Amino acid sequence: MTAKLIKGTEIREEILQEIENEVKKIKEEHGTVPGLVTILVGENPASISYVTLKIKTADRLGFKEVQDNQPDSITTEDLLTLIDKYNKNDSINGILVQLPLPKQVDEKKVLNAIDPDKDVDGFHPVNVGRLMIGGSEVKFPPCTPAGIQEMIVRAGVETSGAEVVVVGRSNIVGKPIANMMLQKGPGANSTVTVVHTRTKDMADHCKRADILIVAAGVPGLVKPEWIKPGACVIDVGVNRVGEKISEKTGKKIAILKGDVDFDEAKEIAGWITPVPGGVGPMTITMLMKNTLKSFKSSLGIA
Ligand code: NAP
Repeated sequence: MTAKLIKGTEIREEILQEIENEVKKIKEEHGTVPGLVTILVGENPASISYVTLKIKTADRLGFKEVQDNQPDSITTEDLLTLIDKYNKNDSINGILVQLPLPKQVDEKKVLNAIDPDKDVDGFHPVNVGRLMIGGSEVKFPPCTPAGIQEMIVRAGVETSGAEVVVVGRSNIVGKPIANMMLQKGPGANSTVTVVHTRTKDMADHCKRADILIVAAGVPGLVKPEWIKPGACVIDVGVNRVGEKISEKTGKKIAILKGDVDFDEAKEIAGWITPVPGGVGPMTITMLMKNTLKSFKSSLGIA
């Protein structure tokens, strides 16, 4: 069997086009666009490149993008004041604080100060609670899990009654996607098992999975023989396993590998996501979708 590839790069384009069209339409009818602020503290190169990508995407969609750069020496109090300013600004629908923050800043305090109705990352405890309750309570599903669910649905994979096994229990991927897949409703209604480092026989659990979602950060962790023939395999892992020279730019780039041995797994699975080009492109896309949702809700048209 050769699995169907679920390409995040293609699904991203579909979703961004949908958002762009909706933003244009709302702008014509209401004369306003979504506003997103990104707070970047310091000059961490990885943070800068991630923020740059967010800004580029927001610009393409016609959002009002506010880039707020702050020095590495900023205090928790100053960041709290800044967040309060954006919480009160009606033209801002989404507030992002790029992590990591410098050591002297109380990260938890800062993130918890964001108005939950502008927390488009979906990490505020109020939004975690809303996700747990499910249904219409959910305001902003966290972006990577939301991207995973969107990929499964758009690939046409049946989730109702499916055995879903999630490898990993982090707060940003494993726990939220497990919670989302077991909710009552479309794109969910699954029977979910979560495995981790203390699980007794991980292989046995994985072998039962109709949908196997792997987010461990261990290259090649899931062996091909753990995959049920025809299963949908979502590989969230992004592991740097070396460097190579890019054919396009001639510059050194990282060689990325997922948590699943792709070449062998694709001969057994029914669907599979590649790394890179699978789940990766979905995170920023879903961030934009959450910002649009927040904007529509502020206009009373959500
Ligand atoms: P994390 O916080 O390090 O959590 C990893 C989880 O995997 C933990 O729950 C850990 O179990 C489990 N685990 C690790 N090794 C294992 C093993 N040998 N057997 C069973 N379980 C194991 O990682 P994360 O933030 O969720 O990220 C996971 C991967 O996804 C990383 O490669 C990351 O780069 C990638 N990622 C990609 C995106 C994206 O593409 N947009 C977004 C987020 C993350 P314990 O809890 O027992 O320690």
